[in-house]
Amino acid sequence: MSLTENVLSQLPGDVLGGLRQGDRLLASLKEDTASAPMVVKETQQSLGTVDWDVVICGGTLGILLGCALAVKGVRVALMERGILRGREQEWNISRKELQVFLELNLLSDAELEQAIATKYNPARVSFFGGAEVWVSDVLNIGVDPVYLLETLKQRFVASGGKLFENTPFTEAVVHPDGVMVNNQFKARLLIDAMGHLSPITRQARQGEKPDALCLVVGSCAQGFSENHTGDLLLSFTPVQNQCQYFWEAFPARDGRTTYMFTYMDTHPQRLGLEVLFEDYLRLMSEYQGVELNQLTFKRALFGFFPSYRHPLKTPWSRILPVGDSSGSQSPLSFGGFGAMVRHLQRLTFGVHEALQTDQLSTNALALLQPYQPSLAVTWLFQRAMSVDLNQEIDPNQINQLLSAVFQQMQQLGEPVLKPFLQDVVQFPALTQTLIKTGLAHPGLVAKVIPQVGLGTLLDWMVHYGNLGIYSILFWLSQILEPWMKNLPNVPKYYWNRLVDGWKYGSGGDYSD
Ligand SMILES: Cc1cc2nc3c(=O)[nH]c(=O)nc-3n(C[C@H](O)[C@H](O)[C@H](O)COP(=O)(O)OP(=O)(O)OC[C@H]3O[C@@H](n4cnc5c(N)ncnc54)[C@H](O)[C@@H]3O)c2cc1C
Repeated sequence: MSLTENVLSQLPGDVLGGLRQGDRLLASLKEDTASAPMVVKETQQSLGTVDWDVVICGGTLGILLGCALAVKGVRVALMERGILRGREQEWNISRKELQVFLELNLLSDAELEQAIATKYNPARVSFFGGAEVWVSDVLNIGVDPVYLLETLKQRFVASGGKLFENTPFTEAVVHPDGVMVNNQFKARLLIDAMGHLSPITRQARQGEKPDALCLVVGSCAQGFSENHTGDLLLSFTPVQNQCQYFWEAFPARDGRTTYMFTYMDTHPQRLGLEVLFEDYLRLMSEYQGVELNQLTFKRALFGFFPSYRHPLKTPWSRILPVGDSSGSQSPLSFGGFGAMVRHLQRLTFGVHEALQTDQLSTNALALLQPYQPSLAVTWLFQRAMSVDLNQEIDPNQINQLLSAVFQQMQQLGEPVLKPFLQDVVQFPALTQTLIKTGLAHPGLVAKVIPQVGLGTLLDWMVHYGNLGIYSILFWLSQILEPWMKNLPNVPKYYWNRLVDGWKYGSGGDYSD
């Protein structure tokens, strides 16, 4: 019996079956065997009167936007294939980011406090052979998804939203004046929040294989001797199985959460979740200084996150992807909840304005999922933190590079370090880090070029240049704002979306 079989058999339910099902899905993605579904059709016939402004398909993160729109008076129907309920495991996020729930009037102060299940400080960043970097107030809050989603569900319904549980999305027909969903719901706009395996997104991508994957395995368990601090990014092993393993750890309400994750391409021979889980359990005692038999496992956690180099271009009018289905989270982290929370204000105001001005065409909605150089530049970092299947590099090269970069960031101070750890990349901080690391460790930086490849590097330079341009455009837009606020509604919709694109695309949304 493997370690994985042994540990997972102690948990209620068929967790091992779930892990293996995850591996089957992953294999079909890597082997490119799953055909793209055909769930969206278009017609030129008019739909006539609609019952809803918005139909949201998928409730996990869909309820965040659904609730925010319902509070603004938008007629929203939300379809969830099962029962809308948050998972047991907390979502980690930074405290400041949660403020948006108050600003959008989704939660009261007391409700927000209750949604916070855990708080801890400080957290560590550390790589094999390098110094430790400690930070406070980054991803140090554990939000209780069960309470959060239940509270938002009640607020949604109280604000006039209608929830349809056990109602899976099956098809949509886009008309010039509306969209018909499941031959049942007539709406002006369909919001797809069905996660990264959404049939709508898969059709839009026409079966395109992801450019990279992040695999994550982990658990929440009791029995650790120390559980007051966390790890944001840590590695203590060289490259193995052509993967660099990274770790995260957080104090949780009912134990300690530990995750091991790694980045890879989609080659069919790449390892799967069960193999990774076995390595996770094998390395646990070295990581946390605890024997497996001293731990009481509360639950196992695992998943994989496909990421694409190019932002999703939805070919239809009246359909907008949000959350994991939109692919707008960082390829570096699996913080899709955090990404949705960060974009919640932008999406709420943007969708509301699109509805008010009737700007629901393909091009108008494309501006709600803009190109973000701040995200695009992180592709190089992901490449630099992974190895090709047949590539030979010094097994400690990634550790050495990351160690050097984070030491320079620490010297540059928290304004450089903290946004980066929260998935926000800004031009001045990135430029300073590049210059400082390049001067202090030219040999290490030179080794990265053959590792990531010249093509990736050149492509990156374009996004890096765009990051600088977006920073200037965002700065200019703030100067022009007093004149722009008197624009007529329709041009104002486009201006506001451009400003949002420059703001988020330059990391200008970050505030400490
Ligand atoms: C192990 C692990 C740890 C994580 N930790 C964190 C963390 O600490 N912080 C953080 O920010 N993020 C974290 N994440 C990421 C976060 O959980 C996801 O980004 C988030 O769940 C994405 O939500 P989503 O609604 O977009 O997609 P999903 O979670 O995939 O949800 C999709 C929703 O759509 C519904 N649905 C699917 N198909 C249909 C259909 N046909 N019809 C109707 N409904 C449908 C599903 O039932 C579900 O409710 C973690 C993820 C994993 C796997």
